[in-house]
Amino acid sequence: SVPAAVAAGLSSGARHGLLMKGGAVMETAAKTTLVAFDKTGTLTEGRPQITDVVPLHGDTATLLATAAAVEMGSSHPLAQAILARAEAEGVTVPQATGATTIPGRGARADIAGETWNVGAPRMAAEAEVLRDTDRATVEGMEREGKTVVAVFTADRLLGLIALRDEPRADAAEAVAVLKDMGINSVMLTGDNPVTARAIAGGLGIEARAGLLPEDKVAELRDLAGKAHVMMVGDGINDAPALATAHLGIAMGSGTHVALETADGALLRDRVMDVAGQIRLARATMANIR
Ligand code: ADP
Ligand code: MG
Repeated sequence: SVPAAVAAGLSSGARHGLLMKGGAVMETAAKTTLVAFDKTGTLTEGRPQITDVVPLHGDTATLLATAAAVEMGSSHPLAQAILARAEAEGVTVPQATGATTIPGRGARADIAGETWNVGAPRMAAEAEVLRDTDRATVEGMEREGKTVVAVFTADRLLGLIALRDEPRADAAEAVAVLKDMGINSVMLTGDNPVTARAIAGGLGIEARAGLLPEDKVAELRDLAGKAHVMMVGDGINDAPALATAHLGIAMGSGTHVALETADGALLRDRVMDVAGQIRLARATMANIR
């Protein structure tokens, strides 16, 4: 049976949207020494906005229309932003077939018999369509904390689209409060190292970037060997990572999806609630000792 103090702690948390699935979770949360945050949708708003549309061949409308056609079937936040902009500008989106997504990298589809890719500039570099001048353009935008997406075929780069996903208003303060509590934080992301460092620098957090979904799991396994790790993610595409940490906490509006795999959830879109949840767990466990 759950001691009364734990039951009281669980229900007190629940009143503020800090959910924990029972006393064992509470006990583990109290021991947290490291919080691993997913970047997109957790430390950031998860709603990237297009900041730059850079056509290298043809015009802006063609670039947007091609990107939108390829992203049509993708639910990725970058795809959503591109589709929204194409619609807002009223461009005519061509018909694409055979659309597929490449997790952590991009999307691909055929348009008028040609295969198009929309994804990380690294993909374009691997296809050998990214020139040195393009690379410099990409890096300049990445240093401003923007994520750059390349639109290309096997033999040409049509253009670049830059997007910026703003950090949540309380993210930097939450990292500082955790530090005061003796808890380190690290940011895990599939985004490139330059963009990741620009965002992380503003938050006072260390970044591990360029991680494919399976790399996040490996990284967490490594961290969990050295610390008591709480992983905080939006739970939409990070369920394996949430399951690998000592504790997996889903944060924000997507949490109903994740609660099946997560140990707890933070129902308000506040990074500060991570500190609140650990503080509550510590106070509750202190009460029953
Ligand atoms: P995060 O860890 O920030 O959630 P993801 O693993 O979802 O990032 O994606 C990593 C990178 O892969 C993105 O920064 C982007 O460059 C690229 N990418 C992934 N999916 C898409 C997509 N549908 N369209 C364009 N780029 C994508
Ligand atoms: Mg993600």
